[in-house]
Amino acid sequence: MSRALDRRRFLTTTLAGAAIVAFDPLRGGWVTAAQAAESTPAGAVAVPDLDGELTTDPAALAEAGDDYGHIVRRTPLAVLRPGSVADVVALVRYAARHRIAVSVRGQGHSTFGQAQVGAGVVIDSRTLDRVHEIRSDRATVDAGVTWFELATATLARGLTPPVLTDYLDLSVGGTLNAGGIGGTTQTYGMQVDTVLELEVVTGTGELVRCSPTRHRALFESVLGSLGQLAVVVRATVALVPAPASARGYSLYYTDLDTYLGDQRRLLAGRRFDSLEGQAARTAADDGWEFFVDSAVYFTGDRPDDAAVTRGLRHDPARTVTTDYTYAEWIDRLRPTVEFLKSIGAWYLPHPWLDMFLPASRTAEVVRGTLDTLTLADTGQGPVLLYPFRPGRVRPRFVRLPEERVAFLFSLLRTTVPPTTVESQLAGNRDLYDRGVAVGGTRYPIGSVELTRRDWQRHYGRDYPAFAAAKATWDPRRILSPGQGIFGPPR
Ligand SMILES: Cc1cc2nc3c(=O)[nH]c(=O)nc-3n(C[C@H](O)[C@H](O)[C@H](O)COP(=O)(O)OP(=O)(O)OC[C@H]3O[C@@H](n4cnc5c(N)ncnc54)[C@H](O)[C@@H]3O)c2cc1C
Repeated sequence: MSRALDRRRFLTTTLAGAAIVAFDPLRGGWVTAAQAAESTPAGAVAVPDLDGELTTDPAALAEAGDDYGHIVRRTPLAVLRPGSVADVVALVRYAARHRIAVSVRGQGHSTFGQAQVGAGVVIDSRTLDRVHEIRSDRATVDAGVTWFELATATLARGLTPPVLTDYLDLSVGGTLNAGGIGGTTQTYGMQVDTVLELEVVTGTGELVRCSPTRHRALFESVLGSLGQLAVVVRATVALVPAPASARGYSLYYTDLDTYLGDQRRLLAGRRFDSLEGQAARTAADDGWEFFVDSAVYFTGDRPDDAAVTRGLRHDPARTVTTDYTYAEWIDRLRPTVEFLKSIGAWYLPHPWLDMFLPASRTAEVVRGTLDTLTLADTGQGPVLLYPFRPGRVRPRFVRLPEERVAFLFSLLRTTVPPTTVESQLAGNRDLYDRGVAVGGTRYPIGSVELTRRDWQRHYGRDYPAFAAAKATWDPRRILSPGQGIFGPPR
């Protein structure tokens, strides 16, 4: 039941102007310290004492009501900048009691409002930013730490997380709720497969440490659960020895089938330590070509190029090799990102679509898509196309095609006028439908309007288990409504 507001507490608390001291359930709004000094709404309930800050500062609300997609905008009622894990516990308990929706925002790099919440509170995880411990085989970090920060800390000890995303300025909590795919997924699975332990706050506000041997069901359910079951506050992830260097190979193909065939051979043979690839418009903009984007890691002698590329059917005259330090390799997107920021393109809308396609049907879906896809449709954004083995990805709620090999097919679109977001979203829905029809699944970081029915289809025969997990760990449905999977808080 609501705790009546102690007016004296308001008057004696020295908080910043926009800081919140109570929630008014009748109005569905907050009471700031300044308002409370004037009058106290009857029935208002004091917010818990916090180490951090709960704010309605307009700049904080505007940031939390936007993301890298700049397509969906839902302004929250407040933003929590937690000063401790206890703050997350207190806020979630409070929200559950008063049926207030809560979402965590890591770096806000999903593209369709996934981390947003309209009538609720966004927990800005950036203040949970400590690297707690690095040992020879593992690191324990707060969920708001970015992979760049973690990798920087571990590389200083000659260690690295085994799987890194292409872009490193993503929060650990953010990618562990999605999956986290990269060039070494071929070997290690996704980032979710490298987690040894989690500390989470469930939707009822319970702080639980879970692992394969402790609260196993919760551990296995939370990884890749799109923020639906718990707030991840801390993670222990595996580390492996870091190589000194990486030799990058770009191998070009004009023919899709030849490219896909070689990619599958490369996946089977594990010739490269990092294996990715893309489709790209030809220089004459008269069609699509393909390139394997890969690297061999080494410490000491540089790999033998002839041995590395032997038997492949690429165009040898166009092969590009580049030497990097390992630190440069994992952060190789940074110069491009800086450039995109300098010309403003980084801040344009990004209606991305990311699909996982079963290998047996990849050629037909990719060909059917690229046949009509123009540079204007993608805004010159990259088109990722590379294989991995779904069987290496353990968490059941990361949905993948049911084949031994799948391809990531991502249209990383930017909206450059006169192309419109609407036309790109329509294209996304079209590709999504075609992908799903052949047994593909969506990597849920991008921009497609999904109905509840679509989500049920997404989880397929695991939907009842996912719904049951939601009912167990977030019975009031307060967590991450921005994904649109379940209904509003109840
Ligand atoms: C430039 C760029 C490159 C990318 N490259 C890759 C790539 O190579 N591989 C890949 O797999 N992905 C990639 N992504 C996608 C990225 O992994 C996801 O969008 C990821 O969710 C972003 O992390 P974030 O910290 O920004 O999360 P946010 O966008 O802030 O949050 C995403 C979702 O996770 C939830 N969430 C966030 N933190 C927590 C937490 N601590 N506890 C519970 N729920 C939480 C949010 O509520 C939301 O539902 C890329 C994105 C961008 C913009």
